[in-house]
Amino acid sequence: MSKKYTKLILEKIKEYDSIIIMRHTRPDGDAVGSTVGLRQILRLSFPEKKIRLINSDYSDYVSFIEKEDKDVSDSIYKKSLGIVVDTGTIERISNKKYNLCKELIKIDHHIDNSPYGDLSWVEENRASACEMIAKFFFDNEKELKIDSFAATCIYTGMVTDTGRFKYGIEEASSFEYAGKLIELGIDTESLYAHLYTSSFDELKYKAYVYKNMKITENGVAYVYISRAAQKKYNLTHEEASNCVSFIENIRGSLIWLGFIENGDKEKTTRVRLRSRFVTVNQIAEKFRGGGHARASGATIYNKEEMNELIDLADKTLKEYKKHNKNWI
Ligand code: AMP
Repeated sequence: MSKKYTKLILEKIKEYDSIIIMRHTRPDGDAVGSTVGLRQILRLSFPEKKIRLINSDYSDYVSFIEKEDKDVSDSIYKKSLGIVVDTGTIERISNKKYNLCKELIKIDHHIDNSPYGDLSWVEENRASACEMIAKFFFDNEKELKIDSFAATCIYTGMVTDTGRFKYGIEEASSFEYAGKLIELGIDTESLYAHLYTSSFDELKYKAYVYKNMKITENGVAYVYISRAAQKKYNLTHEEASNCVSFIENIRGSLIWLGFIENGDKEKTTRVRLRSRFVTVNQIAEKFRGGGHARASGATIYNKEEMNELIDLADKTLKEYKKHNKNWI
């Protein structure tokens, strides 16, 4: 079934001389890896076409991969095929000119509450968008070209979106594709050093998170990171947002939350929700967010909303524990 989509997408790509690739705002390893990887595959395969990756924000975390392209005039958009990768909703597309494109393709693995695009290939059970780009390539292997750089980009997103192959893997093909990509010549030592070494300040910040984390009666762990704390530890917003991954391994705490003050005029706070066994996307959706069953994001406007969200998470967990066994 999904093979049909990978073929249809390739057919569409062949129809256009100009392709503009886009992804979600506040990008992570998967958003950057999938789009830079796709751009490289298309550039190698169709040297006569103009393949651009255009967005309005960047990621420091994966800046070792490659920079994106400069914006182009509206007239170029109007004759281009737009491909949006890893972006569940239209509001989250980083490039706000997406609607100028002649046709739009959505390639995504988030829960599909708000479909968009002239052609939409969504597989919610895929562990990463990069895995879908890998599938797109391997389904069309005879017609497409790849190199070790594209393989590295795609592998990066597969690694980062699954917490090094720990979460969300439901298909044997995740490992099959990872293995095939490795064979293309990925320098994993260097990649993991980029991804998983920390600065001295970051480790000090980790200690701060452990000192300030809290837990509710039923086991929701959470931490709030003010702008002042972000400044004190000399962190970018992205680095500060890693707090959610520091508190992921508390036994019996099946939901954990990171609240990171954004420092904007509206005084919003970014919420990162993570879980095991129990789903959290329905909680995120109540607070202007969404995402995956076990990894979602939301936005709140004040401390009252923060308490409401924590209460809802706590009630959700209480119910889950009451009706289910074998959680850890
Ligand atoms: P994050 O905590 O930002 O890494 O987000 C976890 C997952 O939820 C990612 O797959 C995001 O794309 C998605 N997500 C984050 N924020 C939102 C939002 N406001 N609306 C919909 N999905 C979101």
